[in-house]
Amino acid sequence: MLTKTELAELLEDHQQPAYRATQILDWIYQKRTRSWDEMSNLPPALREALAQQYPLRPLTHTLTKGSADTTRKFLLQLPDERYIETVLIPASPALYGEKSDRHTLCVSSQVGCAYGCKFCASGLDGFTRNLKASEIVSQIILAEELSGEKVNNLVFMGMGEPLANFTNLTKALEIITSDWGLNIGARRITVSTSGLVPQIKKLALLPQQIRLAISLHGPDDQTREKIMPVNKKYDVDELFGALRVWNANKKQKITLEYILIDGINASTTHAQTLARRAQSINAKVNLIPYNTVEGLPWVRPSDDDCRHFRNVLTKANVSATLRLEKGHDIDAACGQLRLKKEKNEI
Ligand code: SF4
Repeated sequence: MLTKTELAELLEDHQQPAYRATQILDWIYQKRTRSWDEMSNLPPALREALAQQYPLRPLTHTLTKGSADTTRKFLLQLPDERYIETVLIPASPALYGEKSDRHTLCVSSQVGCAYGCKFCASGLDGFTRNLKASEIVSQIILAEELSGEKVNNLVFMGMGEPLANFTNLTKALEIITSDWGLNIGARRITVSTSGLVPQIKKLALLPQQIRLAISLHGPDDQTREKIMPVNKKYDVDELFGALRVWNANKKQKITLEYILIDGINASTTHAQTLARRAQSINAKVNLIPYNTVEGLPWVRPSDDDCRHFRNVLTKANVSATLRLEKGHDIDAACGQLRLKKEKNEI
């Protein structure tokens, strides 16, 4: 999939007038055509040349799990026969201020993940490859087609660390937010990261007012290192330095994602330290009681302990959400989707 600038350059190479770019963008992103052959106002030779280089539909839908009124997971096959998942969540009012009639799509940015966060299933099979911008954008187009619903909110919390695929992420964001593209408001897009400091600072300089969520899960280095190996590279102080850069450039509050794990990061002292950290950057906190992942050893705290943790935050005037119902694992971080090699694994 092409940006407006790339398309203009390409058309110049083909000695085509500039207005062709508008025609093509309209076919791809507004009319959502599936084939270059359908672009009836383009010369056949041009259609043929572009079709060979730029497939419009790089993803193939393989399987849907879930029903129309619940969360639906779409298993999608890539051209190299690898699989990713995209998850459509019909209403998730507690997250990011969404209204209940809205649809949030949780998109993947990589096949697998190299970051190995200890609570996350996406990293269990390691990293395979980055998704191209077209493979990111196509998840939205396909999810809208399959569901018949308009995607209102996007969260980059599917498989992969989005900031480790920075070039393709930013290209996809340009296509997604532009009026010539999918025209989804930047404020409705959340990028979730394990905390890649240089990329957070770079992302802060993008013109789009996107939102940022951090998989924090530990308010100090000793705790965070047990859960997030990336903390050895970028410690908590460095991370919060980058978040201050973010705040200097963006208007929306940062969200700190925090999975509560019994005996690891859920004590009163942890809550007090987290409160100070959140206050220092005026962030809100999303508390997620741990959900068991097969093969991983940790335990969810009691509901009372979760409420106590939240109360410590709210007493310190930190905005904190806590959902005690189970089964919301896809909200947990930038990856709770496990790499699926076989259709029947989901
Ligand atoms: S939480 Fe995100 S960065 Fe960490 S392993 Fe999972 S997908 Fe990768």
